[in-house]
Amino acid sequence: VPPPADSHVDVLIVGAGPAGLMAATWMSRCGIKTRIVDKRGTKIFNGQADGLQCRTLEIFDSFDFGHRAWREANHMLEVCLWNPDEQGVLRRSDRVADTPSGLSRFTEVVLHQGRIERFFLDSLKEHSDITVERGVLPESITLDDVDAYDRKAYPITVKLQHLTEEEAIPAESKVHSNGSDVQNGLFRSNLAKDDTEGIINAAKKNPRAGSLETVKAKYVIGCDGAHSWVRRQLGFAMEGEQTDYIWGVLDIIPVTDFPDIRMRCAIHSENSGSVMVIPRENKLVRLYIQLTTTEKGEAQYDRSQITPEMILKSAQKIMAPYKIEYTYCDWWTAYQIGQRVGSKFSKNERIFLAGDAVHTHSPKAGQGMNVSMQDTYNLGWKVALVAKGICDPSILKTYQSERRKIAQDLIDFDHKFSRLFSGRPAKNILDEEGISMTEFKDTFKKAQLFTSGIGVDYGTSMIVAKEGDSTAQGDGTNVSGKKTQVAGKQSLSSVIKIGTRMPSFQVINQADARPWQFQEILKSDGRWRIIVFAGNIKDPQQSARVHALGETLSQSESFLRRCTPAEAPIDSIVEVLTIHSAPRQEVELSDFHEAFHPFQKGIGWDYWKIYVDDMSYHEGHGQAYKNYDVDPEKGCIVVLRPDMYVSWMGDLEDTVDMQNFFEGFLLSVN
Ligand code: FAD
Repeated sequence: VPPPADSHVDVLIVGAGPAGLMAATWMSRCGIKTRIVDKRGTKIFNGQADGLQCRTLEIFDSFDFGHRAWREANHMLEVCLWNPDEQGVLRRSDRVADTPSGLSRFTEVVLHQGRIERFFLDSLKEHSDITVERGVLPESITLDDVDAYDRKAYPITVKLQHLTEEEAIPAESKVHSNGSDVQNGLFRSNLAKDDTEGIINAAKKNPRAGSLETVKAKYVIGCDGAHSWVRRQLGFAMEGEQTDYIWGVLDIIPVTDFPDIRMRCAIHSENSGSVMVIPRENKLVRLYIQLTTTEKGEAQYDRSQITPEMILKSAQKIMAPYKIEYTYCDWWTAYQIGQRVGSKFSKNERIFLAGDAVHTHSPKAGQGMNVSMQDTYNLGWKVALVAKGICDPSILKTYQSERRKIAQDLIDFDHKFSRLFSGRPAKNILDEEGISMTEFKDTFKKAQLFTSGIGVDYGTSMIVAKEGDSTAQGDGTNVSGKKTQVAGKQSLSSVIKIGTRMPSFQVINQADARPWQFQEILKSDGRWRIIVFAGNIKDPQQSARVHALGETLSQSESFLRRCTPAEAPIDSIVEVLTIHSAPRQEVELSDFHEAFHPFQKGIGWDYWKIYVDDMSYHEGHGQAYKNYDVDPEKGCIVVLRPDMYVSWMGDLEDTVDMQNFFEGFLLSVN
């Protein structure tokens, strides 16, 4: 079927790697008219990035495919540090938990990027008609100078080139360059020269080339990787180090006498460099070796020098006296990477950049794919809710303020860790040029909160109401010029922190006694949430407070009513969820105001809104109030963004503040 000659979309996503697919997933869940194009004719099948951090798994779970990754992946629980002893003989010097306990319901796991992309593709199919259009790439992009708040405008014009099948398959993937059947990642590696211009030119010249199509879009998200064509069109620079590192990566089923081959290991040899061992799914093990460095902008490193045999030889030297061989190699690659961050993440809050397009760094801490997906996890719902007219466009400014800082932190961390990973171990305390292994371990442990993704703490903005934070981002005003800074009360809990993601503890459904991890209820469906910690509702005074809150939320002038279209269910924009602390068996659902378990015409009462912190039949007591550090008598209110980050907190009576907070960005439809 030929593509439409002139089409209009709300969102056009360029690039279907992890960042692009995450963006598309939000659009599919929020019902946004979206297209996603990728210049490649095929998805990737093995190799590439592999580590999934806890926060990423929580996100996958909120989209209902976390279980697939969790089941298929290899679980990485321990990190072993190996260093030369005083005689220069390689010894295990330490063991550390890979993920500190209590950080998340999940721990770090490893699964190759192709499977992860598969989960996204299946999910897109299940929830929408969005499909990745392969062999399609933009040839030009222009942005009209329109009012950022004009929601009806399609200010972006993109010309899309439809390639023939022949053009869309990279030459190197047709013939494996090492002459064997082993797949290598070189054709996607940035050691290969960027071929975007070449593909465009080939498509122009080729008489079989498909059509050129004009697409008008409200928003464009450039997720087109480290060479980003979109970034180059916008003229945004990548800032940072001049040095590039060349890494060799080998995925093998090893034959070895090294005892920790099924553990994640950092092995420092005396004089032959370092290797990172990552145990993988399907009996595979990945070896990462930093091979050399080169200056940015220098001629591309001659990649023909790098072969799987050469990577293995380096590993053998580092791991001696242990032996390592393989009979099966699944994938290998070499790639060149610098530590750099994009100068800007968006043009007029209409064209955005995400993932490798705006940050590149080494693969050591398994961050690339995770941070890239988390970029568009941050951006996707914002674009979707603005496109739907639910949120004020000014929330889009928070994408750059929130994510550029994360990218910068990542580069700073990578800098520090690179030096510690690649340096020679100190021979003794007087050896100042050597790397202290105690420092290596300390840095590793301190970084765990950051690398797990759980440590993300967004600064004050119109959607993160921190108290007394003078680092407000943006100018804190919305479209009508109204000041929107309303501080939440952080003192109500030391565990639920404004700016961070909502932690998870077990709660029980009041209606059917089933235990749930609270995060399991917080689906990524584009809704804001008010979590009412209702406290001890057996106490008449407390019950009256909760009832009064229900009354306020139900009034026709409440923001909840005004932001919800008259014909839509009352929980479609903002969902109210309740956790109380009274004994479950002494409370009835009907004790609660209807605002907490709405009645919907033709559907009946909603039984999935009220939860209790009590003993379960089979899975113990979640002690949610204790763990969340919320007063079990008086409770509090917590407002969550659609991406599970805590926005605002207050007492049950602080309804005016809460209303002001929401009115800063939620648009009134009634
Ligand atoms: P990408 O995954 O690069 O996806 C970009 C997509 O955009 C691609 O599908 C590409 O075909 C498409 N595209 C590019 N240009 C255009 C265009 N002009 N028009 C249309 N489509 C376009 N990270 C780790 O954590 N561990 C690893 O072991 C690791 N190994 C890697 C090995 C290689 C060879 C490479 C290249 C990267 C590796 N990374 C690794 C990094 C990790 O893969 C990235 O951080 C992650 O994939 C970034 O996701 P992304 O969606 O931003 O970009």
